[in-house]
Amino acid sequence: MLYDILIIGGGPAGLTAGLYSSRARLNTLLIERGLPGGQVMTTELVENYPGFDEGILGPELSARMEKQARKFGLEIIQAPVQKISLQEKVKIISLEGDHDDYKAKSIIVATGAHPRLLGIKGEGELRGKGVSYCATCDGAFYRGKDIAVVGGGNSAVEEAVFLTKFAETVYVIHRRDQFRADKIAQERAFANEKIKFIWDSVVEEIRGEDGVTSLLIKNKKTQEESVLDVQGIFIYIGYIPNTEFISEFVALDNENYIITDNNMCTSVPGIFSAGDVRANSVKQISVAVGNGTTAAISAAKYIEENF
Ligand code: NAP
Repeated sequence: MLYDILIIGGGPAGLTAGLYSSRARLNTLLIERGLPGGQVMTTELVENYPGFDEGILGPELSARMEKQARKFGLEIIQAPVQKISLQEKVKIISLEGDHDDYKAKSIIVATGAHPRLLGIKGEGELRGKGVSYCATCDGAFYRGKDIAVVGGGNSAVEEAVFLTKFAETVYVIHRRDQFRADKIAQERAFANEKIKFIWDSVVEEIRGEDGVTSLLIKNKKTQEESVLDVQGIFIYIGYIPNTEFISEFVALDNENYIITDNNMCTSVPGIFSAGDVRANSVKQISVAVGNGTTAAISAAKYIEENF
């Protein structure tokens, strides 16, 4: 069986691509290694996705996107992709485990990225209960509270400034005594009276039962340990794009994100990419949805012109 479009990844970008290609009556299969939904599944309440004025629970938004795409005929299977190969213009996807290969005229890679974790006690247990990786999604829950941001890159420093709109005090905890963020971002943070800086320090433990109550912090220079009372912690220590299976196939940037043009075309004709896995993409659901739309339309055009 030769599919028209094979989509890898079932987050908002992949599901939207699936919706558009199924409605265009293209024979489409979406392959997702876990449950469809992507990172939205880990967001409690989504308040910034247009059309839901009261907000919508992340898992509900995902479920609705999936239902809508399936309604028009999108097929979804659950399995991790191992590799992609080419047979002239036909793309072949091999899955891990005991699965047959799948063949398609075009592929849309929408595998997303995952936040790098600190890997400390309390991080997994309190995720969604005070531990967050998305200030835009969760910042408003911390109105008048004290919170911490971990990291020293653009994300940490810029999101710390954003979080001062809500929080009383934002502690930025960084493992060195210098940020790697742009100077202009640093200047804004230094000028903000609500931000306090904790240098040369790492978080060793996140404490709390039903929600975050404090952090155990260690100063790397003095080895001194201290406890910081906060009700939330935002971890911004970088993202890891999910591109291992395709890294030798399409052009990636120096952080392993997939390079595309404005039509979502990658360096390989017939392979498109959408959402967080793309280089220089803004990590928001609405952007992923827009990319998914563009990728599906570009893939349809490619098929029309090449098959
Ligand atoms: P990033 O630039 O890779 O910075 C990650 C930060 O986390 C670094 O300060 C790093 O410390 C720290 N870190 C890494 N692992 C850690 C660990 N295990 N424990 C404690 N700290 C740790 O990541 P990002 O800020 O998410 O940005 C990603 C890319 O997007 C960057 O290229 C960034 O410039 C770009 N970006 C740009 C903008 C903008 O232009 N407006 C906004 C956001 C992001 P060290 O400094 O010690 O390595």
